[in-house]
Amino acid sequence: MARVYVITGPSGVGKGTLIKLLLERIPELELSVSATTRPPRPGEQDGKSYHFLTPQQFARAAAAGDFVEHAEYSGRRYGTLRSELEKRTADGHPVVLEIELQGARQVAAALPDAIRIFIAPPSLEALRTRLIGRGTDPPEQIERRLAVAEQELAAAGEFSRVVVNDDLDRAIDELEACVRATLDG
Ligand code: 5GP
Repeated sequence: MARVYVITGPSGVGKGTLIKLLLERIPELELSVSATTRPPRPGEQDGKSYHFLTPQQFARAAAAGDFVEHAEYSGRRYGTLRSELEKRTADGHPVVLEIELQGARQVAAALPDAIRIFIAPPSLEALRTRLIGRGTDPPEQIERRLAVAEQELAAAGEFSRVVVNDDLDRAIDELEACVRATLDG
């Protein structure tokens, strides 16, 4: 089976940007499209950014065992569809899962060979500044996400690989090196 990479880190840490750059630098990598019950943000496309499901659809898929992992985050459900992962790994493509902590723990149990990487902010304050600056979430969601971020940061030690996103150019170099070092088994 092709490699599975789990990339975890608090909301606003810059995972999305790092992963976009990572996929440009290592084109054989494919990003698994998650399912979620959260509403699309402006510009997000169904089937591309996420598979946007109703809570009922999500619950049915979970009951049918369609998810490799799933979790609740900030009041919404998120999950990795088995079909997303399998269609890619079956073609021999290494796959990246961009998921939160509870999901990363489930993948560690289900797929012990997956490489798990934690992206950390230089500080919690830096994270707050980024979340506010990004402007994609209302203020009460930002506070909720920061509370979750604090718990997630405390778990960074569970990951054998931690990349601090203090400087984008440096962090992407480190992330790329980390992935390349493990691509071929
Ligand atoms: P956002 O709403 O900002 O797109 O994502 C919120 C959080 O959910 C992020 O930490 C993101 O990594 C995580 N997430 C996205 N997709 C999945 C998934 O399939 N499973 C899990 N467990 N978390 C996910």
